[in-house]
Parts: sequence; structure tokens; C-alpha cells
Amino acid sequence: MSYTSRMFLYIGMLIALLSGMMLLSFKTATDVVVSGSRDHLRHAALRKQEVLRAQGEELLSYTDIIVNDVRLQEYIYIIVELKTDKDGLAAYYDRQFGSLQVDAEVIISNKGDVLYGNENQALVSAVRKQQDSHGRREFIFRSPDGPVMVAMQPLVYQGEVLATSAVARLLGNDWLEKQEGASDEYLMFFENNGHVLWRSNPAYRDFRIDYDSQVISTSDNRIFYMHEVALPVKADGMPRLWFAASETRLLGMLNRYRDWAYIFSLLGGLTVLFLGWLMVRNFRRPLAELMDATEAMVHGRLPVLDRRESRTELDLLLNRFADVLDALRREKAKVKKAYRKLQETAITDSLTGLYNRRYLQEITPGLFAQVERDGRYLTAILLDLDYFKAINDEHGHLAGDAVLVHFSRLLKHNSRASDQLFRIGGEEFLVLNVAESPDGSVALAEKIRELVSQSPANYQGTQISVTVSAGISCCFGHSGEGSLSRLMRSADKALYEAKAGGRNRVVRHTSCEKASDSARRRVRNTSLSLVKNTNKPS
Ligand code: GH3
Ligand code: MG
Ligand code: MG
Repeated sequence: MSYTSRMFLYIGMLIALLSGMMLLSFKTATDVVVSGSRDHLRHAALRKQEVLRAQGEELLSYTDIIVNDVRLQEYIYIIVELKTDKDGLAAYYDRQFGSLQVDAEVIISNKGDVLYGNENQALVSAVRKQQDSHGRREFIFRSPDGPVMVAMQPLVYQGEVLATSAVARLLGNDWLEKQEGASDEYLMFFENNGHVLWRSNPAYRDFRIDYDSQVISTSDNRIFYMHEVALPVKADGMPRLWFAASETRLLGMLNRYRDWAYIFSLLGGLTVLFLGWLMVRNFRRPLAELMDATEAMVHGRLPVLDRRESRTELDLLLNRFADVLDALRREKAKVKKAYRKLQETAITDSLTGLYNRRYLQEITPGLFAQVERDGRYLTAILLDLDYFKAINDEHGHLAGDAVLVHFSRLLKHNSRASDQLFRIGGEEFLVLNVAESPDGSVALAEKIRELVSQSPANYQGTQISVTVSAGISCCFGHSGEGSLSRLMRSADKALYEAKAGGRNRVVRHTSCEKASDSARRRVRNTSLSLVKNTNKPS
């Protein structure tokens, strides 16, 4: 796996970790907030329960006041025992207990006669049902207007139970509303099998109750968490009382927090990705340059690298690599120069600086090919200094060397650019030339001979006269293997003739005479055909 892929893998893992941490913190915060809110709700429901219990106690204390009123006891006694009219009782009762905070009240004799509060039929029948078991107690029953909380107590006169006094409070819509007000945030309601019977806020008519999670969702998309408020006394068939607190604002805040968590995860992820990409790019560029450079080196090139300004480790490495490449380039140039020098010394004569015999072998195939291709003549002038041994003998070997250098200088300075100059033996030289005609070479040989004879060499102040003999041979086209030796043999023959003829002379081999003639003929024919062509009517 490449470093880039690895880097992106690590970045991906980092982003996953960041997002995971963000979402985990969101989930933890949600759990903490929700459980805190549940606790708060439970405490609130317990307080409601306490209020209900206190209200029951209050009702019981009202019955205490009623049954302990001696005048009332006497009234009841007179009515029950002496069967007198009970009109006076109602007036007394209203006057005496009218200020008690109750919704309904009755007094029922032991025989079941309603002595007071006959209009409260529902209460009357509920109390009658409970009357057989005596004692100070409370109970709840369900009326069409809501649950009714009742406190009852026997009324005793002179040790005899004469009647039962009961006071009641209706726990319907009004009572619920009084507990909570018409608040949007809190709700109290009686519910039976999913049906809401009475509620503190009339605005909330229909809502869905999820008993498992104890959550209410209303038609206007509000969410309440709910908790049951235990009734102080149990009664069969009674609806359940619930207290609920709206968590819409809280959940809204949590949702906003979750949205921010998502946005921060996304932004964080993108930032990390961007930074990662910058890092990868910073790494990749110098690495790619190094890779390209090494690739080029594998193929024998030494590329030039731009040096970096920045001081990062990779840039320093790149600069160091550029230094290495520069050093290698310098070494390569040195080696190249040395090689060229070596090549040159291998093909040149150290004394005179002219080409040697080895180079002659190297160059002749090319010259013959050129001759054949261009239909030209190759001319060889073989030059041999006359009586050179005598010069050595007379002036010494070093003087002989000076004469050789002097002669080669004359040769160099007077030859043409197309001439190839060789020292092929001790005092033997060769000039090769490719031309349209051998005549130029014949003229050159004559010129050299004359110059040599006229300009003596100077060795340590001594003038040493010298002459040269030359033999010239020519060839036209390529006559295959052995062409060079044939050419040299012919030149040697001509040179031998020159020596034999008295030296200090130039002799042309017959091959050159023929060549000169045919060259001249060719030139003439070419001029004639040119004349004919120009005379032709167009
Ligand atoms: P000819 O006119 O017949 O050519 O007579 P020559 O004396 O020139 O010819 P010969 O072959 O008899 O002598 C050539 C001499 O050249 C013999 C040799 O000592 C001398 N020689 C050959 N190479 C060198 C050299 O590099 N330096 C010097 N000083 N002498 C050389
Ligand atoms: Mg010789
Ligand atoms: Mg000689």
C-alpha cells in the first residue's frame, strides 16, 4: 500500500474516531438530560401525591369539625329519635359549616334517610354503599363530572351512632386546572384505558399515550413525559391520574445539539481531510521528484533538480540529492574529457600531433565509401624525407626529431581542410584526400616538396636543410577488400621511383595519370551537356 493510501486510511480512521466521540458525547448528554428530567418529573408527581393526601386529610378534618359539633349532634338526635322536622337542621348546618371548602356534603341517618344534602344524589348513593363499615375514613368514587374524593365519619350522640357525615371534593376539570393552571408546560389528567377523561388544560383534547416509554405526543407535535400520581385511596374502576411535563423545549435543545454535533463532525472531518491532503501533497511533490530523478538515473541521465527554499526534511533531502546529481555531472564531464583525450592520443602521433597508422585503418573504410557514393577520387601522397638517417647521424636523434616536427608543421599549414594527415612510419608521412580530380593533390605534393627544400629546420641555432620525395597514387570507386594496400603499394612504387630518380621530387603513379585524364573528360562532358541544355529551345 502506498504512503498516500496509508495516510488517507489513517485520516479516515481519525475522522471516524472524531465523529464517534462527538456522537457518543451527544448520546451521553442526551441520557443525562433525559434521566435528569425523568427524575424531576418523578419528584413533581410525588409532590402532587402529597397534595392529594393533604386534601384528603383536610376533608377528614372537616368531618371532625362537623361530627364534633354538639348542637348538630342534638339536632340529629331530635330528628332521628323524636322524628321531628329537619328544616332547622339545614339552616343550622349551612350557617355553621357553609364556609368549609367542599363541593358537596351530606348527612345520612343510620336508617338511610338523607338528613342533609339530598340534592347530591351521586354522593348519597356512594356514601350509602360505604355506610355499613363504620369509622373515620375516606374513599374516591367516579361521578359523571369527575372523580370525587369523599371523607366520612359517624356522628355519635351519647355513645350511640346516629348518622354519617360526609364531605366531598370533585376532582374534575376545574380541580385539575386549579392544580396546574392552563399551562402548556405541565398537564394533569385522568385517563382510563387510553381515554383521557378530565384534563387540566382544555386545549389538549386528543393525544397519543405510549405506556412503554411513558411519553405523550399531542396533535401539535408536543412531547410530554408522564408519571402516574398514586391516588391516596384505591377504588375499583377508577381512572388513573397522571402528571406530565412538556419536554419539547428540552428535546428541541437536544436536537439542536445533535445537529451541531453533526455539523462539527462534518466540518472537523473536512478540515482533517483538507489538512491531510495538504500534508500528502507536501510529501508527494518532493518524493515524486526524487522518484523521477532516480528513474532518469536508471536510464543513464543526470537530471537537474530545482533547489528548495523551505527547510523541511524532505526538501533538505531533495537539495542534498540535487548536490549529488551536480557532483555526478561534474565527474561525468571529467571522465568524458579524459576519455576524449585518451581517444585522441590513441589515434595521434605524440611527436608531430598528426594521425597515426591505427587511425588510418579506422578511417579508410569511410573514405572509400564516400568515394564510391559520390563518384570521386581518393588520392594518397606518400612522403619520405630524403637521407634522414644522415641527419640523425650528423646532428643527433633530437635534431632529427626537430626536423620531423618542422616538416609536419609545414605539412599542416599548407594542406587543405579536406586533407587527412598521417605519420605512418619514422620519417614517412601520408596525405589522403577525396576530390573531384587528383590534380589538387599533385599540386599540393609539389608545393610541399618545394617549401621543404627552401625552408631548413632550425635546431638549437643550426639550420638543417632537408628535402622530401613523394609518390602519388589514385583510385576511383571502391574495389573491395585490399583497396588500401593497393593504393599504398602504388604510392610506394611512385615514391621508389622518385628516390631512384634522384630524390627531392614528386612522381605520379600511372593510376593518377589515368584518373586525371578521365576527370578532365568528365568535367568537359558535363560542361558540354550544360551548354547543350541551355541551347535547347524551351
Ligand atoms: P632515403 O633517402 O632512402 O629515404 O634514406 P634515409 O636515410 O632517409 O632512409 P633510411 O630508411 O635508411 O633511414 C631512416 C632513418 O630514420 C632510420 C631511423 O633511425 C630514422 N628514424 C626513424 N624514426 C625516427 C624518429 O622518430 N626520430 C629520429 N630522429 N629518427 C628516426
Ligand atoms: Mg624511409
Ligand atoms: Mg627517408
